[in-house]
Amino acid sequence: MPAATKSIAVLGAGITGLTAAHRLDKQGHRVRVFEQQNRIGGAVGTDIIDGWLCERGPNSMLANDPAIMALIDELGLSEEYVKANSTARKRYLVKWGMPMATPSSPVSLITTPLFSFGAKRRLITELFQRPRQHPDDVSLGQFVEDHFGREIVDYALNPLIGGVYAGDPSQLSAQHAFPTLWEAEKSHGSIIRAMIAKMSKRGKSKKPKTPRVGIISFKHGLQTLTNALAARLPSDALSLNTEVTQITRDGSWHVTWKHDGSEHTETFDMVVSALPASGLANLQVGSSNDHPLEVLQEVLHPPVDSLVLGYRCKQIAHALDGFGMLVPEIEKRSVLGVLFSSSLFAGRAPDGHASLTVMVGGTRQPELTGLDTDELLRRIQPDLSAMLGVEGEPVFRRHQSWPRAIPQYNLGHGRFLDAIAACEEQNQGLFIGGQVRDGIALPACISAGEKLAARATES
Ligand SMILES: Cc1cc2nc3c(=O)[nH]c(=O)nc-3n(C[C@H](O)[C@H](O)[C@H](O)COP(=O)(O)OP(=O)(O)OC[C@H]3O[C@@H](n4cnc5c(N)ncnc54)[C@H](O)[C@@H]3O)c2cc1C
Repeated sequence: MPAATKSIAVLGAGITGLTAAHRLDKQGHRVRVFEQQNRIGGAVGTDIIDGWLCERGPNSMLANDPAIMALIDELGLSEEYVKANSTARKRYLVKWGMPMATPSSPVSLITTPLFSFGAKRRLITELFQRPRQHPDDVSLGQFVEDHFGREIVDYALNPLIGGVYAGDPSQLSAQHAFPTLWEAEKSHGSIIRAMIAKMSKRGKSKKPKTPRVGIISFKHGLQTLTNALAARLPSDALSLNTEVTQITRDGSWHVTWKHDGSEHTETFDMVVSALPASGLANLQVGSSNDHPLEVLQEVLHPPVDSLVLGYRCKQIAHALDGFGMLVPEIEKRSVLGVLFSSSLFAGRAPDGHASLTVMVGGTRQPELTGLDTDELLRRIQPDLSAMLGVEGEPVFRRHQSWPRAIPQYNLGHGRFLDAIAACEEQNQGLFIGGQVRDGIALPACISAGEKLAARATES
């Protein structure tokens, strides 16, 4: 082994852990990845059944960061990734029970029936308002209301947060859940002024502009990416059905895990954790019976159910000419949102058919999750029929429950981040990253994996 080569345990084989493991392996380190489930990918998972492509969790990702495309290239997936169809630029919000296209230009912002005259005036005049500075963390709902008024919270922020976090804007922390908005206020006082300044800076920059790739997936779904990351690791690097319970240190790190009812320990130079909050909370770290990250048990993860429904095209009256539709809470419907999956990417449904991915639950209606599929369909069918003109029974269905879907960066999230930072500080050679610390979207997790590898290598 070259002198700089280290043995590194990577905990968790979701996208974060696999990205970190891939990078560390490429750098010549000896990597071993521990995954408690019998499959890799974590939240990422694709099933292809009778011509229907079903994503269990995430359906697409934004690939505007050049590092994402570089990774795709490096993994030999340049022929495999697919950009979202151009119709996906159109997005719908439901108002008065009807999907309405969201404004895509300043002119359509003026003419859209989605917002009242008062709300539009409030949006525009934010530009001229006295600079605001929230001194302490504040809820995202309050933050946006202070800048743009209540209607924008109810009809724009609430459905967006329902779609991204399955969460509640009145609980999410502005600072932690949307740091770019928080920073925009800090730097410019007005969000609109900050956006204009950013666009003008980009326009004036002499640097060659990297083309924005936009939203992508893969011909055979997002699992292509996690599969490719895993496939490039040495054959003995990945251990499934392996729950890590303890990591202790005495100069070296000793990682203890359970497999098939028996306990094993192996020694490493470093530990890279890409575990979710619950995994970190249960982890014994150090020589005493210490669970320094126990507090992460309190990170709220509302449940979400994802239902892929297939129909003959003629069963759906709506043109499905867009990314999907989001439903504001104030509309009192049974779904958080519906992705028009077969409009978004080619090859998601057999010819003559369309597939919808319906998301239900979240903090809004957790009681709708975990039902059996027939019961859930019975609850959502009237809304699908009213909002999209869906008629009759689906010809295909696939139901995935996520009892703990997405960590909420709620008010007070800073104390979880502090606990993680303190744990790292007290445990040299331990590096922690992933969705509870670095952002919940796939690009943020990929970047977290790269950052974990870089930190471990530089240490
Ligand atoms: C329903 C849903 C829809 C989503 N939609 C999108 C979307 O469209 N676009 C987008 O960008 N993002 C989306 N996301 C978010 C994104 O998928 C996740 O944030 C991301 O996949 C998290 O990756 P991760 O590797 O950090 O964590 P995870 O995927 O949770 O992986 C962590 C891994 O650690 C393992 N583990 C836990 N404890 C232990 C232990 N003690 N020992 C060993 N292994 C352990 C777990 O089994 C898991 O495999 C969605 C998420 C969900 C749930």
